[in-house]
Amino acid sequence: MKIVFDEPVEPPFGVRVNGQHYRAMGVVDHTTKLGAVIDIMEWSALCWDCGRPFVARAKPNEIPGSRRCERCASPGKKARGKPRTALGK
Ligand SMILES: [Zn+2]
Repeated sequence: MKIVFDEPVEPPFGVRVNGQHYRAMGVVDHTTKLGAVIDIMEWSALCWDCGRPFVARAKPNEIPGSRRCERCASPGKKARGKPRTALGK
């Protein structure tokens, strides 16, 4: 999901998407499988299922797809109900 900002923003900043908070921490270099170096935004978030903090990565100006920490990861399974985080209210 793309983010469209009306004006330039600099990390750290927070966004809320479908009840989940993400905090943009900054852009880091990422080397792809083909050896290209690209910009990746690191986001901090609290896991939808267990509430533990985790780092999610996505292209700049895109919301990360992950809503769960590595331990709770369940690809393809939607996060339902309420998040187990105070921030997710
Ligand atoms: Zn978790």
